[in-house]
Amino acid sequence: MIRYNLRCDRGHAFESWFQSSSAYDSQIKRKLVSCPNCGSAKVEKAIMAPQIGKKGRARAAEPTAEAATSASTEVSSGSATPLMMAQEAELRAKIKELRDHVTKNADNVGEKFPDEARKMHYGDIEHRPIYGEASPDEARSLIDEGIEVSPLPVLPGDRN
Ligand SMILES: [Zn+2]
Repeated sequence: MIRYNLRCDRGHAFESWFQSSSAYDSQIKRKLVSCPNCGSAKVEKAIMAPQIGKKGRARAAEPTAEAATSASTEVSSGSATPLMMAQEAELRAKIKELRDHVTKNADNVGEKFPDEARKMHYGDIEHRPIYGEASPDEARSLIDEGIEVSPLPVLPGDRN
C-alpha cells in the first residue's frame, strides 16, 4: 500500500491509499479518485515534503502513523540535545579557562588558604594571588572580616 497526498483542482488536500503507484495511475485516469470535499475528480499528487531525518527513501516502505510519530520524536529530541551539549561545553570551557588562569597565576596554599588570606589582609605577609581550600564556614568568616574571597567554580559533572 502506498499513501499519496492528493490535491484536487480546487486546492483541497487529502490523503488516499493505493495498492501501488500503477494502481494510483489507473484510478486517476479512470477518475475513480475524487476529492472528499467537493467531489472533483481532477486530482493530482500534492507536492510532498521530504522526510526529515531519514537518508534516502526506502523504496517499498509504508509510511505508517507510528513511523511518522517516532520520526518526529527523534527530530525534536535530536535538536534539543546538541544544543544543550553545546551550551554545557561552552560553560565548561569558560570555567576551565578561569580555573587555568587562577591556578597559573596564583599560589596553591591548600588548607592554609584561610590563614594566608587573613595574614595578607592584616598585612602580616606580602599580598599575592593565592588559592586554596576553605570550608564554607571559613569562607564566610573571611568575608565577615572584609576579606575578599571567591569560590573557584567547579566543573559541572567532572564525571567524564
Ligand atoms: Zn476538492
